[in-house]
Amino acid sequence: MSEELKCSQCGGQMVPKKKTERNMGVQVAGVLVFMLGLILCFTGLGAFFGVPLMIGACFMGYKKKKIMACTSCGYFFERV
Ligand SMILES: [Zn+2]
Repeated sequence: MSEELKCSQCGGQMVPKKKTERNMGVQVAGVLVFMLGLILCFTGLGAFFGVPLMIGACFMGYKKKKIMACTSCGYFFERV
């Protein structure tokens, strides 16, 4: 499928891209989960749960979105 999309703002070429969206509320929760994992690490055996928890917390609040972005003006819209 070759979709030649033109930008509605400047007529430039639209290319498929991925956009990372941050969610502040979830990020705050991620920090709490990270600290919980850190505390678990100090309990010895808890490190088995604490380490994956800390790694998982780093990815909390980030969401990958598929978008079409204009190469010339930066205009974009979400793809369904
Ligand atoms: Zn444009």
